[in-house]
Amino acid sequence: MKIICIGLNYLDHISESNNSVPSSPLVFIKPDNALLRNSNPFYYPEFSRDVHYEAELVVRINRVGKHVEKRFASRYYSGVGVGIDFTARDLQQKCREEGLPWEISKGFDHSAPVGKFLKKEDISDINNIKFQLDINGKTVQKGSTLDMIFSIDEIISYVSRFFTLKIGDLIFTGTPAGTGPVNIGDRLCASVNGEVLLDFEIR
Ligand code: MG
Repeated sequence: MKIICIGLNYLDHISESNNSVPSSPLVFIKPDNALLRNSNPFYYPEFSRDVHYEAELVVRINRVGKHVEKRFASRYYSGVGVGIDFTARDLQQKCREEGLPWEISKGFDHSAPVGKFLKKEDISDINNIKFQLDINGKTVQKGSTLDMIFSIDEIISYVSRFFTLKIGDLIFTGTPAGTGPVNIGDRLCASVNGEVLLDFEIR
């Protein structure tokens, strides 16, 4: 399986990160070794001193798709969950300054914790799915699909032009404002529509 990630999909995060609004979805991929499941602890990697969290709504693909039209895109995912796009910000910055690809800062082992999934049919309003991240009991990020620049359907349509979607692939749909560093001992708790789906510690 693969993990397809969208960057810069919320205006408030684009502002806080001093980026500009993309004209098409910004896409990158994390390898399958990035997955961290079952709310297992995340071990702070030795190669970074500035790992940041980015809470994101995640959809799980349930059928093979290539060149999916937007109007059919909602047929291609069945699960909605939440994940963290961990980013070694110091490594990413260094790669950027050198004009290099920044895969190592985004795709390292366990950089993509993913929680349980809700069934899409159990969600009342796909256009307003709310999610949030609490760290040590304090809410640090809140988002809704309402505020996405590119909708889930637009993302599925766009990425399937380049990458054949396969069953079990995950799409991280971008992070809203409020990203920041994590520290050893932190507890991250992420929910979708008020239901906690991911709850783990930084060790
Ligand atoms: Mg992200």
